[in-house]
Amino acid sequence: MATKAELANERNLYRSLCQQALQAEQIFRYHESINISLLSLSHISGMMQFERRFLKIDNPSLQTLRIVFQYAPILFRMDALTAVEIFLDNNRKTEKHSGLELGKHLESAYEILDIAASTWDAIHKGTNEVLLASTTKKVIASTLITVWSRMNLIVQESVGQANRYKLRTNCEEYTAGKCMNCGVTIMAAKWQFYESFRCHKCSSTTYYAILAQ
Ligand SMILES: [Zn+2]
Repeated sequence: MATKAELANERNLYRSLCQQALQAEQIFRYHESINISLLSLSHISGMMQFERRFLKIDNPSLQTLRIVFQYAPILFRMDALTAVEIFLDNNRKTEKHSGLELGKHLESAYEILDIAASTWDAIHKGTNEVLLASTTKKVIASTLITVWSRMNLIVQESVGQANRYKLRTNCEEYTAGKCMNCGVTIMAAKWQFYESFRCHKCSSTTYYAILAQ
């Protein structure tokens, strides 16, 4: 049985990570926001126990799960959905105490990821077939397209009467990236900079700023 001080510590760790994840979300750094949210998983149980028992909050808020459900499908982060699935399987009380249907949210996140994959594929091939499919799919696909446009991943072009989308960037292309920690510049395929990785110079695991689009 954890002591009150231990639970309070877990709660502080969770709320601090939650704050960082929300800040990253506000500046559209969705990968980072997801990564921080994943770090918060191990503190959810302690946080919920503390807030329910000592702060009398029936359903403590779980913004970091909301962040994963919202952004993981858009960014093809199957790893993040899998991590949350394992977490929910091992922490059955979380759903009950959240007052939310977390299993259903997870299920629909998987479905959206599926639609995201086929939509992205259609854009890659220059066809808009997927957009003409069932209504639900169409609504989700157009939402995805809006987000990807905002993230500058795709761009709209008019072909006669029709609007088409194309990928804005070739992710295999070599480009320069700057370590956000020590500032060293390295060359790598663009997709590598979408994740954090270990810097060869300062050894910190960090993100790189892409210097050229
Ligand atoms: Zn570095």
